Order: sequence, then structure tokens, then C-alpha cells
Amino acid sequence: MSESERNILVNGIEDKGVTDSNVLSALRKVEREKFVPLMMRPTAYRDIALPIGYGQTISQPYTVALMTQALKVKKGDKVLEIGTGSGYQAAILEKMGAKVYSIERHNDLYRKTQKLFDKLGIRVSTKCGDGTIGWSEHAPYDGIIVTAGSPEIPESLKKQLVNGGRLVIPVGGKQTQTLKVVTRESEDEYEIESIPEFAFVPLIGREAWDKE
Ligand code: SAM
Repeated sequence: MSESERNILVNGIEDKGVTDSNVLSALRKVEREKFVPLMMRPTAYRDIALPIGYGQTISQPYTVALMTQALKVKKGDKVLEIGTGSGYQAAILEKMGAKVYSIERHNDLYRKTQKLFDKLGIRVSTKCGDGTIGWSEHAPYDGIIVTAGSPEIPESLKKQLVNGGRLVIPVGGKQTQTLKVVTRESEDEYEIESIPEFAFVPLIGREAWDKE
């Protein structure tokens, strides 16, 4: 049942313009219902964000697909995710063969998702903390994906990219944001592309919003 529901969801995402076959294939394999609270499972394959507790959400599948496509992940890439949340985005990246690091600021959510990764055998290195300053011990990264909306692009994250690496981050006000795709061209040159109109929960930390 859930496999056919998942295929319908992914066909819809393809119709909306996501073309990367590796992203679509990972979306067909990762069981989103395992990343949402039990009472939300009947709606797990609707293309909508869902509450996961702690005032946070699992992102809309189309948004996950679009952001992952923008990251241009290749097998073996080292990717940092800011905002582990339910763990779904990290599971998609792991399924695509990336070596994934992920940071969550809510301690209870961090612990819950760590347990889920262990249970499902998903290999993601996690920590609890402020992701706006990155995770310098494992830098540089081929890709960095931020799954919460920021007032600006944190400098620390840009500096933790390899040359040629990409940072995908929603930037704007607290209600709506533009998706920014930042490519590090050289030591201190960055190219920035924009994809308009997204709505994320706020990124909170030293280099973003100071409160919810
Ligand atoms: N990637 C998640 C998923 O697949 O479920 C989406 C989670 S939700 C849209 C964004 C998450 O970012 C929330 O869990 C929130 O607690 C977290 N967050 C906000 N500010 C953060 C920060 N500075 N560092 C790490 N996580 C942060």
C-alpha cells in the first residue's frame, strides 16, 4: 500500500518539474511514514509539510526533492544538513550515497531522531547544537543544505564548502523565503542563484534569527 502511495506522490513531484533521477529514485525508496508521528501516518504521502512535535515540521516532499536536486549530490559526496528534524531529508541524502552529517538544535528531537536512525539502520553522523556555525571538524563539504529559513546566508557555512561546493538555504522573512543556491567558485568568490517563494520554520542561532 505505502509503496503505491509513494509512487503516486513521486509521479506528482516529477510532474511539478523535478527531473533528477537519483533524487526521484531515493524518494521512491525512503518510507516517509516512518518519519512522521503515528497519528500522521495516513497523511504521510500527501505532498504537504506535517507537524513532528516540538513546534517543528517535516518538510513538504516537493520541497525536499527540489532542494536535493539543487544540491547536485553525487555518490560519495560529503553533505552537511542543518535542521535534522524528523530525519527524512538526511535519509534521502544517505540513500543517494552521500556521507551525511546533520545538526539539530532541539535536544529532544535530536535524541528521538537519533534513535530512529539506529532502528532503521540509517548511517548519518548527528549532533545537537547550533548549525548556523556549521560543523568545522568535518569540513569542507561538497554540499550544505539548510532546512529552516534564515534572515541571511551564514558566513560560517559558506566558508565550510569545498571550491565548487553548493549551499542550499531558504533566505528571507519569518513567513516566506527565497531558496538561495550558493556555489563557491574560489577561495572568496561565490555565485548565488534564487528560486522564489518557500515557507520554512525559522533557523535559530548565532548567525540567523535569535528567537522563534
Ligand atoms: N530536515 C528536516 C526533516 O526532514 O524533517 C526538516 C526539519 S524542520 C523544517 C527544520 C528544523 O531545523 C527543525 O527541527 C528545527 O529545530 C531546526 N533548526 C532551527 N534552527 C537550527 C539551528 N540553528 N541549528 C540546527 N537546527 C536548527
